Amino acid sequence: VILRDFVEGFPKESDMYIVTGTVRLAVPEGSTAVLVKNLYLSCDPYMRNCMSNLLGSYIESFKPGSPISGHGVCKVIDSGHPKFKKGDLVWGMTGWEEYSLITAPETLFKIEHTDVPLSYYTGLLGMAGMSAYAGFFKVCSPKKGETVFISAASGAVGQLVGQFAKLTGCYVVGSAGSKEKVDLLKNKFKFDDAFNYKEEPDLNVALKRYFPDGIDIYFENVGGKMLDAVLLNMKVHGRIAACGMISQYNLKQHEGVHNLIQIVVKQIRMEGFLVFGYYSQYPEYLEMVLPQIREGKIAYVEDISEGLESGPAALIGLFSGKNVGKQVVAVARE
Ligand code: NDP
Repeated sequence: VILRDFVEGFPKESDMYIVTGTVRLAVPEGSTAVLVKNLYLSCDPYMRNCMSNLLGSYIESFKPGSPISGHGVCKVIDSGHPKFKKGDLVWGMTGWEEYSLITAPETLFKIEHTDVPLSYYTGLLGMAGMSAYAGFFKVCSPKKGETVFISAASGAVGQLVGQFAKLTGCYVVGSAGSKEKVDLLKNKFKFDDAFNYKEEPDLNVALKRYFPDGIDIYFENVGGKMLDAVLLNMKVHGRIAACGMISQYNLKQHEGVHNLIQIVVKQIRMEGFLVFGYYSQYPEYLEMVLPQIREGKIAYVEDISEGLESGPAALIGLFSGKNVGKQVVAVARE
């Protein structure tokens, strides 16, 4: 899947195209690279930033005319690296292609537990899961009985934050963009409550309805108008984990925040984080979450689109809320 050119505004399917060609299924002689077959690719909102010509960003832009990259679950076909051998399953940064030559394999995580679906390593057991874990537990230091609000709550990260919060003993409310998603939040992920933000004429009024005494923890996924309304509803000493602001990614000019003064008045701590800074804690996360999955304490919803050719539509679908749960592209099953 190739990026045609840098994108402005909302991305379109035609901003990407697919080419077929022949690759040699072997690592070049003397190289420490790893050749992988891509099984599942992860669609992530940050990939929109890579479609722009970024200067001084934390993340590298895609190169127009070259395959785009992203997180994926892969099988090692050939290896010049001592840490990996043929047949190993790994997750990490790969190309949006059937086979990828990974020249920095040190960044890959070996998959040791295969009693759970492999696709989970694109989300629950990969970057999204680590984001939920780091953002909620490490940034917000939650306590039993606290009130938690999550935006984009039915997505990859949000559905997990809500369930971690429930397991911690918090009161949890999420917002999402359709009735189907709100039903998922309440019935499948067992949030205490949920609402469709698109049907609320005044988000401040909506939040007051669900949090008459205020919000202790806000897990921020969307930014913009939602952040402004949340600021009016935070409790004194509330915490905000700024995970992402998807409502802003396609705007040429980011919206301003009007209620920032609340951070002073209510002594709110708002902290941004990047999941990459927490990857050293991945073993600790697995130790917590694998038993929860096996015991059925964590539910997980994926939206799997079939075939590499379905990738561009799946990726841009994130920005109109087309995905229900974690958006994955299945390239091959084994
Ligand atoms: P999701 O699975 O939640 O998919 C994105 C969802 O965002 C859509 O389904 C849609 O849901 C919602 N959305 C899209 N556009 C808007 C908009 N304009 N206003 C409000 N909601 C919108 O994605 P992830 O769970 O993977 O990511 C969630 C957030 O976390 C993103 O902001 C992402 O950038 C961030 N993130 C940050 C990381 C970090 O290291 N800091 C790591 C991973 C993710 P709906 O139908 O409900 O509107």
